Amino acid sequence: MHRLLSVLLTFALAGAAAAQTNPFFAPSPLPFQAPQFDKIKDSDYKPALEEGMRQQLAEVEAIANNPEAPTFANTIEAMEKSGALLTRTAKVFFALTQSNTNETLQKLEGEESPKLAAHNDAISLNPKLFARVKALYDARESSGLDAESKFLLERYYRNFVRGGALLSDADKTKLRALNQEESKLSTQFHDRVLGDTNASAVWVDDVKDLAGMSEADIAAAAEAAKDAGKPGKWLITIRNTTQQPVLQSLANPALRRKVLAASEARGRHGGANDTRGIVVRMAKVRAEKAKLFGFPSWAAYVLDDQMAKTPKNAIKLLTDLVPGSTAQARRDAARMQKLDPQKLTAADWEFYAEKVRKRDYALDEDQVKPYFSLDHVLQDGVFFAAHEMYGITFKERHDLPVYHPDVKVYDVLDADGKPLAIWYADYYARPSKSGGAWEDTFVDQSGLLGTKPVVYNVANYQKPAPGHPSLLTFDDVTTTFHEFGHALHAMFSNVKYPTFAGTATPRDFVEMPSQFNEHWALEPKVFANYAKHYQTGAPMPQELVDKIKRSRTFDQGYALTEYLAAALLDFAWHTRTADMPMVPDAVAFEKAALKGYKIDMAQVPPRYHTTYFSHIWNGGYSAGYYAYLWSEVIDDDAYYWFKAHGGMTRENGQRFRDMVLSRGGTMPAAELYKAFSGHEPSVEPLLIERGLKEPPKEKSKVGG
Ligand SMILES: [Zn+2]
Repeated sequence: MHRLLSVLLTFALAGAAAAQTNPFFAPSPLPFQAPQFDKIKDSDYKPALEEGMRQQLAEVEAIANNPEAPTFANTIEAMEKSGALLTRTAKVFFALTQSNTNETLQKLEGEESPKLAAHNDAISLNPKLFARVKALYDARESSGLDAESKFLLERYYRNFVRGGALLSDADKTKLRALNQEESKLSTQFHDRVLGDTNASAVWVDDVKDLAGMSEADIAAAAEAAKDAGKPGKWLITIRNTTQQPVLQSLANPALRRKVLAASEARGRHGGANDTRGIVVRMAKVRAEKAKLFGFPSWAAYVLDDQMAKTPKNAIKLLTDLVPGSTAQARRDAARMQKLDPQKLTAADWEFYAEKVRKRDYALDEDQVKPYFSLDHVLQDGVFFAAHEMYGITFKERHDLPVYHPDVKVYDVLDADGKPLAIWYADYYARPSKSGGAWEDTFVDQSGLLGTKPVVYNVANYQKPAPGHPSLLTFDDVTTTFHEFGHALHAMFSNVKYPTFAGTATPRDFVEMPSQFNEHWALEPKVFANYAKHYQTGAPMPQELVDKIKRSRTFDQGYALTEYLAAALLDFAWHTRTADMPMVPDAVAFEKAALKGYKIDMAQVPPRYHTTYFSHIWNGGYSAGYYAYLWSEVIDDDAYYWFKAHGGMTRENGQRFRDMVLSRGGTMPAAELYKAFSGHEPSVEPLLIERGLKEPPKEKSKVGG
């Protein structure tokens, strides 16, 4: 007895010592509970994640076994308050495994992800807890709950059911095993794609082969080679998507082919970084999970909880656009083919597209880029637009710790000058970062928890060589506005429950605020404010501005076709039923699927091939890549609403903030949008914006 007590005491003391040194064990004392990156060590994550899971399970057990009858407060609100340590830790941990990983973190992610999957199952498959949720749900109409609380209760019930709460014990056991396997495969996929993307960088020995590239880009390639341990050579790193930005300027066709081939072969080299076996197994695992839930396919299960409702609705939106999109791509290809006697391939596309841009629109990226320095784009473009629309202001601060020296931190102040959010910007590519760009939070806004948003944006812009400014392409400019649109969604969040905070909407709505924000990049008063020469400060000549606008729909055939191909590929994998055998050959399957959807253009490969399609295998977009286009229908519709109501004004911005951005997931997205705009979204604005349809003749005046 005494002995046991002393053992317990030792444990308690060890726990106390850990609590003192582990920065996750108490809420951060920094403003808005911003993470203490100066104190966090790699060794802190494991104990904090595991103690966080233990604490949340204890909290959940207490809720499930509460002798009092279930009430909204002692069950649903109590659940919303549970897991504080786990959330605090996991948000930072998964931010860093994406943006600044290392072998220790990758190994830990591999260990902890299946444990987290099991942890989630332990909660959503807890029968006593579900019984309480169900009792409340069944009595919801007479409970007198306010709308947000009632919607939260419905969300809980739905999440439990979708998590397997209604399954038999035997099926629950099967589900747990499938979740474990999926979690392991997903982490493996992530590590292998990162590894193979880094390993696929193309070495260049002779600077002559880089003819066509700008001096700054060549300097950056030399810097990358130096960082990789081979000074005196050049390294072309492979970026996220199939098509590579460098192909726009590389004059050497053999090197162009080599770069594109390196990009497309990711994940199918055989060996330690091959992903083919992982994806075929994952597709099978997901189909089996869907079957347990009573759905014919994973896509049917996923879309049941989205705006689109069924794969059929989403696939229809995509396939309706295939003929127009591929026809436009073919017309563009024919224009480019005239410039070269050699057969135009996918590797040549961007190079000749650039030539056509120069010839027909007299637009040259290298002429444009000096006007898009990252500093101007951010301060005088992105921040300026947000100020015009919402009245908010930004102030860089240097007192908060960061996880990498490239990261910058800003205070976001509301129109009345009060602190609204803290925002981190991490824009430069590095080998420890996954490809692409994204937004997420370290802390979510919640009235219940009294927390305010701590938000971050990550991108992969080429880091300039020392002494050079960071000059963006117009694509990068658009990405900066896009990710900041997500950030605004998180910063303006004004909800009670953390489950509904900011971007916690259906996935096919969540890209709406971000894509909506892209529109302001070309708004005349915004554009004039940021597009200034980085050396002279001179505004971009009007002539060049007009050229950008005129050329905007050029090459949209490629952009839309590569996107549609990837989105349909996602459905090809995820509409398979559990009874179908595992796909024997991922590459052959992909080929046949694209052919089946009549989108198999050799000159326009999918934006992501199956073997490095991180969105669908590890990025939370399985059966969800269509969501960008679904959201685009709505964001273009919203933009046209603005156009019809006086454009970019504080008044319109406030309405959008109050009725859309601040509402998070507190009501069904379709209702939320209709309340804002007064109508169902139409696909017309998208067709016009994409250049697939002529804009209507200007009417004398839009009424109302
Ligand atoms: Zn987005």
